[in-house]
Formats: sequence, C-alpha cells, structure tokens
Amino acid sequence: MLEQLKAYFGFDRFLPLQEEIIAKVLDKRDTLVLMPTGGGKSLCYQLPALRLKGLTLVVSPLIALMKDQVDGLRANGVPAGLLNSTLAQEEASLVQDQARQDKIKILYVAPERLALPGFQRFLQSLDVSLIAIDEAHCISEWGHDFRPDYRNLKGLRKDFPGVPVIALTATATKAVREDIVNQLGLAEPEIFISSFNRPNLTYTIQPKTEPLGSLLHLLEKHQGGSAIIYRFSRKLTEETALELTERGFSALPYHAGLERDLRRETQEKFIRDQVQIVVATIAFGMGIDKPDVRLVVHYDLPKTVEGYYQETGRAGRDGLPSDCVLFYSYGDRSKQEYFISQIEDDEERDKAHTKLDQILALCDLQTCRRAYLMEYLGESWPKTDCGGCDICLLPREEFDATEIAQKILSAAIRTGERFGVNYLVDVLRGAANKAVRARGHHELPVFGISKGINADELKEMVRSLVTNGLLAQRGSGYPTLAVSAQGRKFLNNREKLTLTRPKQAAPVLQATSGSDRETAYDTRLFDELAALRLEIATDREVPAYQIFGNKSLQQMAFHMPRNEAAFSRISGVGDAKLRDLSERFLKVINEYMQANGQSAAVEQVPVNAPKKRIRGISMSIRETVDLISQNRSLDEVAEQRGISETTIRSHLERFVQEGGKIDLDHLMPSDVRRSRIEAAFKEMGEARLTPVRDSLGDDYTWEELAVVRLALRQGQSLGEPVG
Ligand code: ADP
Ligand code: ZN
Repeated sequence: MLEQLKAYFGFDRFLPLQEEIIAKVLDKRDTLVLMPTGGGKSLCYQLPALRLKGLTLVVSPLIALMKDQVDGLRANGVPAGLLNSTLAQEEASLVQDQARQDKIKILYVAPERLALPGFQRFLQSLDVSLIAIDEAHCISEWGHDFRPDYRNLKGLRKDFPGVPVIALTATATKAVREDIVNQLGLAEPEIFISSFNRPNLTYTIQPKTEPLGSLLHLLEKHQGGSAIIYRFSRKLTEETALELTERGFSALPYHAGLERDLRRETQEKFIRDQVQIVVATIAFGMGIDKPDVRLVVHYDLPKTVEGYYQETGRAGRDGLPSDCVLFYSYGDRSKQEYFISQIEDDEERDKAHTKLDQILALCDLQTCRRAYLMEYLGESWPKTDCGGCDICLLPREEFDATEIAQKILSAAIRTGERFGVNYLVDVLRGAANKAVRARGHHELPVFGISKGINADELKEMVRSLVTNGLLAQRGSGYPTLAVSAQGRKFLNNREKLTLTRPKQAAPVLQATSGSDRETAYDTRLFDELAALRLEIATDREVPAYQIFGNKSLQQMAFHMPRNEAAFSRISGVGDAKLRDLSERFLKVINEYMQANGQSAAVEQVPVNAPKKRIRGISMSIRETVDLISQNRSLDEVAEQRGISETTIRSHLERFVQEGGKIDLDHLMPSDVRRSRIEAAFKEMGEARLTPVRDSLGDDYTWEELAVVRLALRQGQSLGEPVG
C-alpha cells in the first residue's frame, strides 16, 4: 500500500487513521469517516479505488470541486472522470462509454443524476466495487448544509448489495452522524472519528480597536498569501474590499447578492491566485477547497462557535502554519443581541441566545481557546498549553485596573468623546504634539496623568475597557471612543475593576505541529520554483496547487534534489509528476545551484516558521525586472540570463502580481495592435492567453499578448480600440 501511496500520490506515509480506514474498506466493510478539513479524507477512497478491480463511484455535491479533484487525480496518473450538469450531452456519453469499458477507475457523479431513470440503468451496467459519499452530512437535515438531492442516495445500498459504502464528512455532531448511518442504510459500519484539532492553525481573538490597522498588519505578515475575511453583511464586505483595494491590496467582495457568474468568477480568481483576498459573508467557502489559505479573519463577531470553527477551518488545509484572527467588540455583541431580540419564535430566539453566549464565552476566555473549541466539539483536550492560541502564546495575569480605568474614562470625557485610542493615549501620556496642542488638550488636568505607562500597554488597557463594555466605539476603521452607560455607572458608583494583561515574561514559542521536522529552506530558490509553477499552471489553465503544493516546493528548496532519483523522494512527487514535471523543476534547481554555488542556502527559514514570507520577490525576479527597466527586450534578457523567455515572462507576471510596477513602453506593440489586443482581453477575460491568441490569429505573438496583459494588470490601458 505504501508503494502505491508513493507512486500515485507521492506521499511516504499515511496521515492518522487513513491506513486503518483503507484496510476496512478493502475488507468490504461499510465505513463512516469523520475528519476535519485537511485531514486527508479523499485518499481513504482514492487509494482503495486503485487496488480494487472495477470502478469506484464517488458522489459529491460540489460541482466546482469535482473538476478540481478529477484534474488532480489525472495529474497523478489516475484515470478519473466526472458526470454532472456542466457536461454537454456528447461529453457525458463519452465518459459513460469510458466507464463501461473500464477506462475509468474513479467516477465522480453529482447526486441529482441518481434520480434520472436512464442513469440507474447506466450504473447497473458498470462493475462498481466501492461507493464513496463525500460531504455525507448533506443527507441530514440536522446538518448545516442539507441537500434534498442527497436523499437520492438511499437507493444505492439496495441497488448495489455487497458493494461497500464509505461515507465521509467534516461535521462531527452526533445527531448528524446517526442520521447519516440511518439514511444511507450503512450496515454495521465501522465509524472513524479523528481529532478535530487543527494543530497548524493559530487562533487569536483581539479587541476590535482599529480593526483596519490590525488587518493591514496581518496582511503584511502574510504577504501575498491567500486570505479570507468574513464580514457580517453584504454592504460591509464591499466596504472592506474597497478599503483594501485602495491601499493596494488585491481584494474582491463575495456575497449571495452578487450575480452568479460574478461569484463564480471571483471564486475562480481566488483559486488561481489572481486575487489574494476575498472579503465575504459566510456564503463564501462551501465550494472552496483551496489548500493554501494562510489567513482567515472574522472582522465581525460570528454567530455561532460551529460557524467560527467551520470558517477558520478553511485556513491551512495543506498543513502549513496559518492564522485565524477574530476582532471582538462590545458593539458587535449589542448588534447581535438586537437582531436576536427581533426573532419572533420563542424557541428560536432562545437557541440563538445560547449560541451567542457560547461564542461570547470563547471571546472572553482567559484560558486556552483551542481547549474551549475542542470541548465544544465534544473532544476532551488534555493539554493546558496548546502553543497555538493568543492566550497560550502570551500568558496573562490579573491586576487591579480601577485607577487606570478611571483615568482613561476621564480623559475620554474631558476630550469630548470624539477621539480614538491613539489620541487618548497621547493625552494620557502627556504627548504635547500638534494635534493635542491645537485643541488645547495639553492644559487639561488629565494631560500626562499616566506618564509612566508605556504606550502599547496603555492602548491594550483602553482596548480592554472597550471589550468590557466601559467604552463604546463609534464608526468603523478608526473609531472614536465614548464612555458607555456601564462606564458612567462604574465612575459614579466608584466600582472596582479587575482586568487581565499579558504577563511580563517573554512568551515561550513552541512549534505548533510535531508532524514536520523543523527544517530550513532557501526562500530564493522557493521563489524560482514558484515562478515555474505559476508558468506551468497558467499554461495548463489549472490552479497552481495542482502542479505542486507549497509543501513540495519547500522540500525542493530544502533538499535541492539534483537528479530524478532525489527528486522522486520529495513529498507530493508520484510517478506521473516525476515523468511530467521533474525535468523542468530540476532544470531550475540546477541552474540555481550553478549560479549560487553548492552551498546556496543563504536565506534559509524554517519550513514551519509562521512568520516568514512564502511568496515575495526573489533576487532573480528583481534582476529580470532591472534588466527590463534598462530597456532590454525579453529575448535579450533571456539570453543574458541563460533562462527561457517564458520564465522571464513569468518573472514579470509575478512581480506585477505582487503589486510591483514595470515600465513596459519599449516592449509595447503599436497603438493599433495594442488596442486590438486590449479589446480581445476585455471580451475574453484576462485569465488566459490562448483564447485571445486564437481570436487574433498567428499574426500576434505570445510576447505581445503577455506584455499588453501585464500593462492591463498594472492598471494601464490605451482605451477604446482604434479604427
Ligand atoms: P479533506 O478532504 O479531509 O479536507 P484532503 O483529502 O483534501 O482533505 O487532503 C488534505 C491535504 O492533505 C491534501 O493537500 C492532500 O494532498 C494531503 N494528504 C492527504 N493524504 C496525505 C498523506 N498521506 N501524506 C501527506 N499529505 C497527504
Ligand atoms: Zn491555547
């Protein structure tokens, strides 16, 4: 089995439970698999499919994912096909013929197909040896994603007696689990429940003071990595997307109110790394299987803990370190309380209240967030320090905050409750800057009364007062602070206040995951390999992660394989990818080693280091850009650098993708040609060169098309077509 695992999928060992599950499946037992996102569920039926004779039928509700899965399997040399409503009649017939002739090992079908009478007959004509039900919770009305079509699956058990069924889901609740077993009629199923802990995710919940500033900070930290930002309403998603775009980030909004086509396009762009950030309502994510999402932000308070877990779960499917950050404010809490009070049904309202209390408890927690989540999901969590949440990373201590709180609230009142945290802190610390002086605030009695406290600490205390409801925020972005009714009561009644603050001792950082060795890889080589990956992915019109995942590239940039044998040992390199891709990747590695000497590893960072850039601009890309800026042509640069022209092009693409600007004037075709090309891109979209080239004809070179597209991506265009 290990041999096949390596040959087809490129992996050296199984993830937890995979081997046990596969053994039961091969033993023809019915199985139910409950595993978190990223746990490696697909392999549990894909590997058996290769070992069993006949065909494995996979039912999956997410049409977009089906194609992704099938493409992924084919890239690994596994004959796979799909049948769903996106196929034309002839295409579907072709797939059906191939399935009948045993030319397909794994066939993905959409659940609604099963209701078609002709389809039943077709299935009966196949030699089915295993049935896999993906996203099996969709059959249950208890789940969060009930799909009536899934009721069509009930008949499968009867239609294929003796064929084992494997049902898989990332939903863990007991009610759903029992429902799946009953509805599918699983026979004495072996049930596998893996831990729902996601060790590579770091959970942080912080007060929502200057959320935009914090968000920008987080995005800097994850330079270029994919991010999802969840907001409470459609309008807010658009606002935040705009704010980010204005600051030079590549961001798009996503919500159920947008046109279907636009939503699909946005998803597609996200998957293909053509947009870095999606700002979304919770409508986003169901159909997204992107493995390399590095950051999930809840900009507003989520409604339930389940929702929070699901949404944060979309980060880091590839197992690499990723961040989940929630901004929490008293205002959001009141907002949700208001919405809940509007619910008419008593029972529903009570339920919503309980859910809100649970998420609030998570936010207010002074103990490990992960422990709370795990207990919430019904798992016991023995560890006291998870090393992967804000609380554990920065232990806190209680202190008497009565006096400082009085000072902060007084300062807010004396300055007219019109300013934000920074201004208040300036006044409290006695910073007589221009703004303070202009308003005469340097003459207030509160000016400088907290001189001895450092600014960050003081800001943290102001935030705590917001979190605890003594200060209320107004406005978004950089909100102003006013004393709340609760705050006034605190002052008037001379109440006492205890707060917590980070312990002074430096936090002990721990590795978040024990599964990978702490190794160091060369980030420049990584960038070169990523540029090649992007080039190949663009050529083939597939997402970059289908060529190789980041983990594979990191290993290449660490082990620096120089020949096929060494290359084949990289995780993610199976037989098919070895044949298909090793030559081009080895060429880059060898060129790099020649250029940089044997011990090229200059700029190494730990594979699991969460804070280091994964993407970014390498020296090599800079060199290309420098040469182009000296008015050289693409082929001149290619020749001078001894690399191919397509690589040069992909360097430029990447540079622009990361927000860089290049002067392209000397590479531009004539205005007439340029405007024709622009018009063609406008009509056919910018994602691919091929359709544009097809429409314009051979007279236009790839280079011209690429240069014009680069200009468009930099926001430069000539305007309306000439002539
Ligand atoms: P799920 O469906 O449970 O969310 P996937 O099947 O998509 O998870 O797998 C998650 C990731 O783990 C994928 O990138 C997959 O290639 C990888 N993976 C699966 N099995 C293994 C393994 N045995 N070794 C290393 N990586 C694996
Ligand atoms: Zn913790």
